[in-house]
Amino acid sequence: MSRTIIWFRRDLRLADHEALSAAAAAADGDEVVGLFVLDPALLGADSKRADSKRARFLLGSLAALNKEMDGNLWVLSGKPAEVVPALATRLETSDVFVTGDFAPFGVRRDAEVASRLDHIGARLRPVGSPYAVAPGTIVNGSGSNYKVFTPFSRAWEQHGWGTPIAQPVVAWTRPERQPDEPYTPAELPEWAKPGERAALDALDRFVDERLAGYGKHRNEPGLDATSRLSAHLRFGTIHPRTILARLDQSLSHERFRTEVAWREFYADVLFHQPKSAWETMQPKMRMMHCDIDAAARKRFDQWARGETGFPLVDAGMRQLLAEGFMHNRVRMVVASFLIKDLHLPWQWGAQYFREQLIDFDLASNNHGWQWVAGTGTDAAPYYRIFNPSAQRDKFDPEGTYVDRWRGDGYSEPMVDHAVERAEALKRLSEI
Ligand SMILES: Cc1cc2nc3c(=O)[nH]c(=O)nc-3n(C[C@H](O)[C@H](O)[C@H](O)COP(=O)(O)OP(=O)(O)OC[C@H]3O[C@@H](n4cnc5c(N)ncnc54)[C@H](O)[C@@H]3O)c2cc1C
Repeated sequence: MSRTIIWFRRDLRLADHEALSAAAAAADGDEVVGLFVLDPALLGADSKRADSKRARFLLGSLAALNKEMDGNLWVLSGKPAEVVPALATRLETSDVFVTGDFAPFGVRRDAEVASRLDHIGARLRPVGSPYAVAPGTIVNGSGSNYKVFTPFSRAWEQHGWGTPIAQPVVAWTRPERQPDEPYTPAELPEWAKPGERAALDALDRFVDERLAGYGKHRNEPGLDATSRLSAHLRFGTIHPRTILARLDQSLSHERFRTEVAWREFYADVLFHQPKSAWETMQPKMRMMHCDIDAAARKRFDQWARGETGFPLVDAGMRQLLAEGFMHNRVRMVVASFLIKDLHLPWQWGAQYFREQLIDFDLASNNHGWQWVAGTGTDAAPYYRIFNPSAQRDKFDPEGTYVDRWRGDGYSEPMVDHAVERAEALKRLSEI
């Protein structure tokens, strides 16, 4: 009997899932195989990322999905380009449904899988995306993509999105054997509960308790005023449609919708310019002189350990190490410090965030870094240099946040901000 496959990737949920609904409709009452492929390049024992908090969040979300599927998730290890066609051949599958992937790695992987499936007479069927509006959809009057956020977000809202899709009834095929790799969730920070139910609970709590005050308090790291939904969006344990459906036209809701739009904007930018992940976007800014010698490495390590002597910077870096998360305002401050007080390449910071963040997302992270560095599309100008002490006074006036991450205290400042600010501006004037 031929079987339809739904191959889960960054969409680890059952509700509001276009590709799953399409697979269920195509199966028309017949069984569906729910597959996840553990790529050893990402999670193998020798991989640096295998024991990261992000990997644990992924494994926890898989365990939760498997539970919701009554133990019917097929988890196979290997390269997707080998595993998926081999399974499709064995099960005589003609259709492998997936949520479209628009990031550079996913685009390459899917092209390879599609071509191999094609050889055996099967099809990769991308349906939907991890976004309210799929990257590449929003274009301006002359048919090209937007380079500036505000007109993009306006066009994005005008384009609109559908309402959440109900969970389909699926007759799952029982896996032939238990997963190749154990995927019991290991310990995670308290805030990071993995899985679809946890995501929906987090959304409910945010809407009931904090959304009304979001516009006023979202920049205050001492308050738990934001949604903390970023990790769930990253792994697709919730779809942005489900989140957006809870918003009305009030100011706080509007503010929150704008933040979700930034995620969609950066995904769109990366889709059109895959190289912008690691390459400085503005050609002129590529000439900016950065320090990369051994002394620069030492300064980087001090920053990463949270030992710069600037409490807001250090509190942020300590939160990142402990929780795999950092408040958005503080992300901007620590990034500015690395780039403009320490004169290091923004890519060093982006790479470190990639290792540490549970919500790491190539588009949001690397364009977030380019925004602060003044090198991206619609970025803050380079000469806008955050003063870490003034930022603390403004956004953490009671010291709630820096006290929380005080630990053994904060040392003397490693640099003089006024001096380094002048140095940064001098380097800017040289180009
Ligand atoms: C240097 C830097 C690196 C960043 N790296 C990442 C990353 O790897 N992954 C990531 O998801 N976000 C990243 N961000 C954006 C932002 O900091 C996080 O999305 C946010 O802090 C997550 O917390 P939250 O879910 O409580 O956000 P909320 O304030 O509740 O916002 C709701 C959602 O909107 C989206 N969002 C909010 N702000 C932004 C933004 N500035 N850019 C893009 N999307 C946004 C996120 O999906 C977020 O979950 C980065 C920002 C900077 C300045």
